[in-house]
Parts: sequence; C-alpha cells; structure tokens
Amino acid sequence: MRIDVVSLFPDFVAQCAGFGVVGRAHERGLLSVHGWNPRDHAEGNYRRVDDRPFGGGPGMVMMIEPLRACLGAAGSADPRPARTVYLSPQGRPLTQAKVRELAALDRLVLLCGRYEGVDERLIEAEVDEEISIGDYVLSGGELAAAVVVDAVARLLDGVLNDADSAAQDSFEAGLLDCPHYTKPVEHVFGAVPPVLLSGNHAEIARWRRMQALGRTWSRRPDLIDLATLSKQDRALLER
Ligand code: SAM
Repeated sequence: MRIDVVSLFPDFVAQCAGFGVVGRAHERGLLSVHGWNPRDHAEGNYRRVDDRPFGGGPGMVMMIEPLRACLGAAGSADPRPARTVYLSPQGRPLTQAKVRELAALDRLVLLCGRYEGVDERLIEAEVDEEISIGDYVLSGGELAAAVVVDAVARLLDGVLNDADSAAQDSFEAGLLDCPHYTKPVEHVFGAVPPVLLSGNHAEIARWRRMQALGRTWSRRPDLIDLATLSKQDRALLER
C-alpha cells in the first residue's frame, strides 16, 4: 500500500511512520509513506499557502491552488487510483470498520489542514471523504494522519507477526478486548485468574468471551446490540 500525505509539515507523518509496527510494514515493503508540501507548489517569493478568510473573522485559510497542485503531484506519483481523505474535525468519526476499509485500498492520499482549515471549494472538488479522529480540535491534520497510517498499517497482510492478534482486538468483533496477563503469576497487585493457567482451552475461550462481553457492557454499552447476540453470549452476560 502507498500513502501520500499532503501537509505543511510533511516530514512529521513520514517520521512517525518509521517506528514500531508501521516501521516494520515499511521494512517489509508492505507500506510506503510519502510526504508532499503544498509550499513547494506555491507561487511568489514567499510561497504563500494561506490567506485571510472572505467575510472577515480570525485566522487564515489554506488556499486552493497550492493544495490543488500538490494533490495533483501526489496523485500522479503512482498510476494506481487513490482515495483522497481530508482529516477534519467535521468528518465522519474514524472507526475500526473504516480503518479496515482503508487498509484494503492500494493507495490513499491524506490531506492535512492547518489554520482555520482549507478553502471549501478545494474540499468539494478534490476530496473523496472527510475523516475525524474525535470530537476535539487539533491545530493540524498531521497527528490525525499519523493515527490513520498507524491503524491502517497494522491491518496490512504480513505486518503483524501473529495475524490473529488483530482479529481479537477491541472493535473487531463488535466488542472490547478481554484483559491480558503475563508473568509473574503472583504479584503484590494480584494473581493471574486461575482459569488462564488451567490449560483448558475451551474454558479459557469462554472466560475471555465473558470478560469481553462484561467490559463492553459496563464500559461501552453502545457497542452491544442485545438483539444480535448469540444465545451463548446472552447466557454468559446473565451469569
Ligand atoms: N476551523 C476548523 C473547524 O472548526 O472545523 C478547525 C481547523 S483545525 C484548527 C486545523 C486542521 O486540523 C484542520 O483543517 C484539520 O485538518 C485538522 N484537525 C483538527 N481537528 C481534527 C480532528 N478532530 N480530526 C481530524 N483532523 C483534525
């Protein structure tokens, strides 16, 4: 997969992509992340990329032309068609289902805004969808782009050493993940639940399912649709 990031700080996301799982995706040739700076496509001595908003008011707005030219250059850097996503607090909230959808694409172009945002006409003409990483306002889209790159990278085939680990993560099966424990068995903070030491795989799977259901029920009841739960799951919840 190839991800192009259009940003006034193009190195930021590219550098974030150098660590951990995303870095491994890069090393294994499964993902490449490229930064593009709209300033390189701006005209004049000052290479201006922003101007005052029409109608007055505070702040600056990113101008159409440098972004259009930069998106054009990023888009034509690879012959495969790309989906263009503008990171925006006004976009649809990023979910694991959306991350899966993006991870199935060959190419993604991420547009990061700054200041008051981007001229609306550029969004209407060049952007396929807007994605928000939460109901709060960042000073720029770069952190949001890094979040998308990270979440997408770990879902690419061959990136995680154990592909099953992503399948049991929170949200994948509509539930939060179960709690996890490792050595030591006994600690001043408590003991590992005995069932996990029993070697009984059916019991362990049942316990984990019960924990996942229980914590989803108590922490994120909005994720649980009782009507679609299996009989076994309902029985576990009622215990
Ligand atoms: N005036 C804009 C508004 O209220 O909708 C906010 C602009 S914000 C200061 C600058 C840039 O940060 C945005 O253009 C966007 O790219 C990015 N950004 C801010 N919050 C974000 C969020 N929650 N999710 C994704 N991107 C965000």
